[in-house]
Amino acid sequence: MTTTPNLDPKDMATAYDAQAVEQPLYEWWERSGYFKPNHPGARSFTVIMPPPNLTGELHMGHALTNTVEDALVRWHRMLGDDTLWLPGVDHAAIAVNAIIERDLAREGISRHDIGRDEFLNRTWEFVRRSRDRISTQHRRLGASADWSREAFTMDEQREKSVRTTFKNLYNDGLIYRAERLINWCVDCGSAISDIEVEYEDEPGSFWHVRYAIAEVDGTPIGRDIVIATTRPETIPADTALAVHPEDPRYAGLIGKRAIVPTNGRLIPIIGDAAVSIESGSGALKVTPGHDPVDFEIGERHGLEIISIMNPDGTLNEHAGQYRGVERFAARKALVADLEAAGRLEKVEPYTHAIGHCQRSRTIVEPLISMQWWVDARTLAKPAIEAVTDGRIKFVPERFERTYLQWMENIRDWCISRQIWWGHRIPVWYCDACQHQTVAIETPTRCESCNSEAIRQDEDTLDTWFSSGLWPHSTLGWPDQTDDLKRFYPTQVMETGYDIIFFWVARMVMLSLYNMGGVVPFETVYLHGLVRAPDGAKMSKSRGNVVDPLEVIAKVGTDGLRYALVSGTSPGNDQRITDDRLESGRNFSNKLWNASRFVLQMVESSDDLTLPAPATGALEDRWVLSRLATVVDDSTRLMERFELSEALRQVRDFFWDEFADWYIEVAKVRVRAGDRTPVAVLVHVLDQVLRLLHPIMPYVTEEIWQRLVTISPDPGGASALIVARYPLAATERRDEDAERQFGAVQDFIRGIRNIRAEKRVDAGRWVEAYIVAADVTAAATTLQEAIENLCRARPLHIVATADAAPSEGVVTSVLATGLVVLPMAGLFDPAAERARIEKQIAEVEAEVGRQEAKLSNEAFRSKAPADVVGKEEERLATARTRLEGLRASLTEIG
Ligand SMILES: [Zn+2]
Ligand SMILES: [Zn+2]
Repeated sequence: MTTTPNLDPKDMATAYDAQAVEQPLYEWWERSGYFKPNHPGARSFTVIMPPPNLTGELHMGHALTNTVEDALVRWHRMLGDDTLWLPGVDHAAIAVNAIIERDLAREGISRHDIGRDEFLNRTWEFVRRSRDRISTQHRRLGASADWSREAFTMDEQREKSVRTTFKNLYNDGLIYRAERLINWCVDCGSAISDIEVEYEDEPGSFWHVRYAIAEVDGTPIGRDIVIATTRPETIPADTALAVHPEDPRYAGLIGKRAIVPTNGRLIPIIGDAAVSIESGSGALKVTPGHDPVDFEIGERHGLEIISIMNPDGTLNEHAGQYRGVERFAARKALVADLEAAGRLEKVEPYTHAIGHCQRSRTIVEPLISMQWWVDARTLAKPAIEAVTDGRIKFVPERFERTYLQWMENIRDWCISRQIWWGHRIPVWYCDACQHQTVAIETPTRCESCNSEAIRQDEDTLDTWFSSGLWPHSTLGWPDQTDDLKRFYPTQVMETGYDIIFFWVARMVMLSLYNMGGVVPFETVYLHGLVRAPDGAKMSKSRGNVVDPLEVIAKVGTDGLRYALVSGTSPGNDQRITDDRLESGRNFSNKLWNASRFVLQMVESSDDLTLPAPATGALEDRWVLSRLATVVDDSTRLMERFELSEALRQVRDFFWDEFADWYIEVAKVRVRAGDRTPVAVLVHVLDQVLRLLHPIMPYVTEEIWQRLVTISPDPGGASALIVARYPLAATERRDEDAERQFGAVQDFIRGIRNIRAEKRVDAGRWVEAYIVAADVTAAATTLQEAIENLCRARPLHIVATADAAPSEGVVTSVLATGLVVLPMAGLFDPAAERARIEKQIAEVEAEVGRQEAKLSNEAFRSKAPADVVGKEEERLATARTRLEGLRASLTEIG
C-alpha cells in the first residue's frame, strides 16, 4: 500500500492499518515542504524544540514533548500562521564525555593516553551515529519540524553564538575567573554547577572530636573544646574554631588558639554570630577549603584556606600522613588515629543530606578551585522583571513563583568544566605578558604584546551555556538573519518542569542580554512527567520503562499521541496505561470505520451543498449547531493549552453524537431515498478531521486524502496538514434544534432503558407511546428513525398523556414529555402467564405447608417463641409474594 495524495474514497480497508500508513505519509509531507513556514508576512508562530540529548534513547518524555509541541504547531499552521518548529540536538557535554571515557576504560586506557584530538575524533563519530538515530525517532512520532533548519549546539553557527556571548559578557565584566569553592565530582573529573548536585538523606555519623586549647604561643591551658563533624577527614584543613561571641561556655576563649588534633597546627578561636548557641556544643570547626558555609565565615574573618584534596579524591600533601589516601579510606584512618590519641569523645549515628553528582551519583566534594563564573545576580534582574511585568507567562501559573524564588536567590554560575567534549573556553593566555585574549575568531597572537606564545584555556563550558542561547542561536544570532527578524521572539517554550532552573532560567537571562532586552518566548508551557502504569517514575533499573517505539508498533503513532494528550494537563504528571493506549487505537479505528461508512455512501451525483442556516431537517440543524459549539470550545481550549479537554470534546462529539446519532438517523433517510444528509455527513466529517489533525495527524490525513476527492478544500489545500482549522459557524447555532433533538434522544434512551430494565430480548420489537408535547411535530418527522433506534413498533407519537394508555404500562417521565410502554408488548403474554402460574402454584404450596405447621397445637406449645415467630414471618412473606404474582397475572390480562 503506497500512500499518495488524493486516494480513492471507495478503497478503504476494513480496519485502519497505522503501520502501513504512517511512514509513507510522513515522507510525503516532508517532501512536499509542508513542515516549512509558508506564510511570510502573516503572524508568526515559532516553537524551538528543546534539544534532546545525544546520549538518550527516545523515551516517553520525548514522546510527550513532541506530541504537545507538534499539536500546537500543526494547529497554528492550520490557523494560517507563519509557523516554524525548529529542531535541534544538544551535545550533552558531561554525559557524552562520560560515555566516551567509559568506552576507553573498557580498552584499558584513559583520555589522557589518546590525547584531546583523538578523543574528540571518537566523540564526533559517536555524535554522527546518535544524531541519525534521534532524527529518525522524532520522525516516527510525527514531528512536523522544519528539518532544513536543524541546529546542533556544537555546530559552527552555534559556536559563533557561544564565543560572541562569552566575549560580550567578559567585556561587560559579567564573566570572570576566580578561585572559589565549587562542587567537584571526582568521577566526572570536573566542577559541576549547584543545580547539578542532588541531595539525598543518607545515614552517616557525627564524630565528636576534642580540640585542646592553647595560648597564642601554643602553651596548652588544660581545657578542650568538643566539636562534632560529619567529615573528619577535613580536620587537617581546619583554619579556625568558631563559637558564638555571647556563648557563656566559651567566654574568654575567643582570641586563644586551638590545636588541630592530627597535625598540632595552631588555629585561632573566633567569635561569629552565625554560630548557633543552641545546637550541640555550640562550637564549629572552620574549614573554608572544604565547606561553603565555612568559606563564608573564612571570608568574614580573613582566614587561611587550605585544600587537602586532589581532583581524583585522594588527599594531598597538606593532609600530612594521609597524603595519597583515598578520601573515605582517609576518613577511617583518621578516626582510628583520633581514637588512639584519646581525641574522639564519641560517635553518634546521624542521617543527613549528602550532595551527589546528578550524572555519576558520586558524592560531591566542595573544593577550592580556579574556575570561570557568570555573574548571574546581575543577569537575573531583567529576567525577574520580564516575568513580573507579564512579558513572559508560565502555564501553569504556579511555576512563576518557583522561577522567581530561584532567580531572587541566585548565586554566580560556575561555567567551566574540566572535560574535553564541549565548547572550549575562548580565552588564550599569553606566556610572555600574562594577558588574557578573549576572542570569537581563534587568535594566533596575544592581542596585547603580539607574542605567539599563547595557550587556549583547557576547560570547556557547561552544556547549559550553549543551550541557554537556543531561542536565538538557532535563528542565526549573532548574525542579523532574516530568520531572526521573522521568528524572534518565539511564542511558546514547551518543556518539562524539572528543567526550569537548568534551562528556562538561563535562556531568559542570556536571551535578554543578547537580544537587547527582548524576551525569548512569550509563554513557558510546562508539562508533567510521564510515569509508569503504577505511578512510579520510569527507570531502567526498575524495569518499568514503556518504550514509545514499541507502543507505536502496537497502537500506531496516533494511538500513542491520543493516549499522551488525553492524559496531559499543564504541570501535572500522568501515568501511561495500557487502557489509555488501547483507547487511542480504538478511537483511530472508530474514526476510520465511521469515515469509511460516510465515504462509501457518497455518490458522484450527490449535491454537497449544506442546507442554509435555520433550514433543513431537525437533525441536520442539530448536528451543525453542535459542531459550531465544539469548534468554538476546541479553539478556546487549545488557546489555553488544555489539549486533553479539547481532544475529549471533539472525540465525544464525533463518537457520541455524530457516529451514534446523526449517522444512524441519516441511514434511515438515505434508505428512504433522501440524499440530503450526505452533504451534512461529508461536511461534519471534514470538520472533525480538521479538529483532530493536530493531535492525530496520520489517520486524519489518510481519510482526508479520500474525502478531498469528493469535496475539494475551499481554500484549495492539497493536504490536511496545510488546510484551515475550522471556524465556528456561529450562524448555525440553533438552540431550538438542540432542545428538540435532545428531547428525541431522551425518548429513545427512555425506551431503551425500560427495555433493559425489563430484560426484553434485543431483537424484540415493542409497542411504545411517546408523549412528545411541543416536540410532537419534530418527533413525527423522525418516526422511522426512532422506531429503528429503539426497536419500537408500533410507535405512537402523541401530544398529550391522555392519548396514551395508563393501565398495564411502564412509564418513564422525561424532561420533555414521557414514554409509555404497554407491559403486554414487552414479552409473550402466554409464555409469561405460564411462568407466573407455575410460580403461583409453588408459593401456594408453601403457604399451605406453613399454615398447617402453625395450626398444629403441639408445635405451637413446644417450640420456643422465636422459632414460632420466624415461621409466622415466613408465612407472611409467602402470602405477600403470592399477592404480587396474582397482580402480575391480572396485568398480563
Ligand atoms: Zn559526576
Ligand atoms: Zn602577551
